[in-house]
Amino acid sequence: MTHTVCEPCNDCKYTDCVAVCPVECFYQDDMLLYIDPVDCIDCEACVPECPVEAIYGEANLPSQFASYVQLNKDKAAALKLMDEFVDDKGDWRKLRETIQERWLRAPKATFYYSVR
Ligand code: SF4
Ligand code: SF4
Repeated sequence: MTHTVCEPCNDCKYTDCVAVCPVECFYQDDMLLYIDPVDCIDCEACVPECPVEAIYGEANLPSQFASYVQLNKDKAAALKLMDEFVDDKGDWRKLRETIQERWLRAPKATFYYSVR
């Protein structure tokens, strides 16, 4: 069970919902906000705070927003991962270094070819 941010959230940057969440499970990109279903404790505190009724519990989710459950899950996971890599100054240097480091450590593909 979790809560899900749906299409009406588009372009709202008031984030009234974020302010009341006791477990800080909201993530945001340019499009809308997302709830991390792993951390959400289903307290429902955010639901009445949203002025456009964009947040729904699983039992009340309108069918036209069904795809937003997976969208919240995927986006929250990706944004959470990025947060973990961004350094204290808020830039992306640490993320870039981590990707480079992992790429260098990863086993490279081996190509076999025959010499005639
Ligand atoms: S209050 Fe509602 S519309 Fe505004 S950011 Fe939160 S979910 Fe989106
Ligand atoms: S239901 Fe509660 S825990 Fe889940 S996102 Fe809303 S305020 Fe946060």
